[in-house]
Amino acid sequence: RGAIIVLHDITDIRRLEKMRSEFVANVSHELKTPITSVKGFAETLLSGDVPDEATAKQFLQIIYDDSERLNRLITDLLELSKIEKQAMPLEITKVDMKTVIKNSTRTISKFAHDKNITLHLPEDSSPVYVEADKDRLGQIVLNLVANAVNYTSDNGHIYIDVEERSSKVVLNVRDTGMGIPEESLDRLFERFYRVDKARSRHSGGTGLGLAIVKHLVESHEGEIYVKSTEGVGSTFTVELPKTQE
Ligand code: ADP
Repeated sequence: RGAIIVLHDITDIRRLEKMRSEFVANVSHELKTPITSVKGFAETLLSGDVPDEATAKQFLQIIYDDSERLNRLITDLLELSKIEKQAMPLEITKVDMKTVIKNSTRTISKFAHDKNITLHLPEDSSPVYVEADKDRLGQIVLNLVANAVNYTSDNGHIYIDVEERSSKVVLNVRDTGMGIPEESLDRLFERFYRVDKARSRHSGGTGLGLAIVKHLVESHEGEIYVKSTEGVGSTFTVELPKTQE
């Protein structure tokens, strides 16, 4: 019996080591892409081999955008590692989900407006309280709604609602976007998993948003799942216990 337990542990350790080395490979690749671009365009500018000012400006813009991308990537990686190490204790207070939704969507409404996407927020009537870390809850909502805007084409709709059940609070973020292929649904919350790498990069995605959301939800003893139909849209659902023990 002892031998079986030992074997089981070794398999676990191997699995963890494999995951870790895959993660390091992924991170290196993600960092390398923008760095290569920054270096290349800076070299060209330094060589003085640029035909005109407009081209020079275009190259500088690429350098700027890729630096921003590196910045986002590192911010997300640090955030993820802090959550995973549990180096960031939650500050639990009684918060109104509707207020959190209102604040988080404020920052996104400009992007939605640019794409003529309508954000449908929950009715203002009565508050829905949950015991949670207000900032972390805000980040959960922000990441989900930002994705909904990102992966929905112009003139679409995003519906955000909260429901109160006996012992939990349920948040739904539904979009009329491109949807997610069934075979990707299981992997969506993995670090760096993207359905369409080029599209995610193009829109500035780091591939870490949903991994962060899942960790944050789980640190609140909650659950997250997704239902989606390609070409119709996706619904992300977060269930949080009303009280944290
Ligand atoms: P990213 O930075 O690429 O958006 P995320 O971790 O937030 O990373 O999401 C992972 C992938 O899940 C995305 O690249 C995209 O393919 C898919 N995805 C996330 N949200 C949606 C959505 N609302 N509609 C369609 N696809 C989505």
